[in-house]
Amino acid sequence: MGRKLLLDKAHIEGIRYYDTYRQHGGYAAAEKALKLAPGDVVEEVKKSGLRGRGGAGFPTGMKWSFLAKPEGVPRYLVCNADESEPGTFKDRYLMEFIPHLLIEGLLISSYALGSNRTYIYIRGEYAWIPDILEQAIGEARQHGWLGKNIQGTGFDLEIYVHRGAGAYICGEETALIESLEGKRGNPRIKPPFPAVKGVWDCPTVVNNVETLAAVVPIINIGGEEYAKIGTGKSAGTKLISACGNINKPGVYEIEMNLTVEEFIFSDEYCGGIAGGKKLKACIPGGSSVPILPANLLLKTAKGEPRLMTYESLGDGGFVTGSAMGSGGFIVFDEDQCVVRHTLTLARFYHHESCGQCSPCREGTGWMEKVLHNIEYGKGKMSDIDLLWDIQQKIDGRTICPLGDAAAWPVAAAIRHFRDEFEWHILHPEEAQQRNYGLAHY
Ligand code: NAD
Ligand code: SF4
Repeated sequence: MGRKLLLDKAHIEGIRYYDTYRQHGGYAAAEKALKLAPGDVVEEVKKSGLRGRGGAGFPTGMKWSFLAKPEGVPRYLVCNADESEPGTFKDRYLMEFIPHLLIEGLLISSYALGSNRTYIYIRGEYAWIPDILEQAIGEARQHGWLGKNIQGTGFDLEIYVHRGAGAYICGEETALIESLEGKRGNPRIKPPFPAVKGVWDCPTVVNNVETLAAVVPIINIGGEEYAKIGTGKSAGTKLISACGNINKPGVYEIEMNLTVEEFIFSDEYCGGIAGGKKLKACIPGGSSVPILPANLLLKTAKGEPRLMTYESLGDGGFVTGSAMGSGGFIVFDEDQCVVRHTLTLARFYHHESCGQCSPCREGTGWMEKVLHNIEYGKGKMSDIDLLWDIQQKIDGRTICPLGDAAAWPVAAAIRHFRDEFEWHILHPEEAQQRNYGLAHY
């Protein structure tokens, strides 16, 4: 049984409320952190090896130390709760069931970074969560953890919850900042990174919900102790939202050295493939990361067991091109149709493209049309190469990662399942008659 640092108390009745959270050790990390110098809190996070849990896996301590500190200019911390990646719902779970863990993490992180006004930007579709967060913020204020002169330290902090309007692109940090400022959520060109020019052109750190919550156990057990969990480059525990054709969909906290095989097949986690069917493939890190066929998913190209880590899931570049991503683990059984799923994702990215750059605006729509033709019996063999060509012309040629995220699933599907595309083109009627029983994500 792996160590649980984030969800260890999530099952306790009433943990959503301050009194219960406090009785079970809540705000002890905040007490500890407020006695340290802000720079020492940053050092502790650096020592922990914590990497961003939103998807990119960027080292959190390094990001924090990049924050510019010009004299007389406010600094901001923004919590990215715009969790919209298909297959990803672990931040929702955390905010819904143990909101004070996030508020405590925000307090410690704001103190470390010198942010007196911190924002939680939450996706519009999580319509019931802001009330839970507001309740926790109100309780924290009542007990002296927010407001002026927190616990007599002289540190002031207000936390504001800002609701998004339901656009996937607003999860991209610069689009999120634009939206927070009241503008259309169009991504900005980076650099400058938010650490230098973020909210209202002031230095800003944007971190994911889980990343900020993880700061609490890091302060509680110490950065060095946290770094001992996992594999070094993938330190600590990670929340995984597992869905698709498995027996036990849900949110799991894993130590980052678990094998993929154990995660899928053991009763402690996914409990195996539903209906006793065979495993066909998996998207291990949310829809933006490439699909892996079963043979590459369980073992690396060298024949070693694949681990639930940043390195192992993302190894080999072209071999797998996959990644840990946002921890949205989507499992496909033998009856699933890769062409149909690729079309679903292409439609999603086309719909969510903000339209600023031509390769993404035009390319996502074009890929959707070609995939639609293949899926609905009007495809030509040359369409497969056309799709390959379009995705190549999007990849790496856009302002933000949405373009890459739209290109990679198409590339991976063709790379690993080309025969399935060919079969659709050669057997258009049969392909349409098949009942695929789509996986849900
Ligand atoms: P990125 O690699 O561009 O940046 C990662 C972070 O590091 C950013 O905060 C960036 O500002 C910071 N950074 C990088 N270099 C820096 C520098 N030199 N100076 C200062 N700061 C620097 O990735 P990204 O665009 O933030 O995220 C892409 C990932 O988001 C994708 O891999 C995908 O997995 C994930 N994603 C997640 C969701 C979700 O719902 N959780 C949705 C869509 C995409
Ligand atoms: Fe907008 Fe797509 Fe360009 Fe991102 S890549 S800025 S979503 S058009």
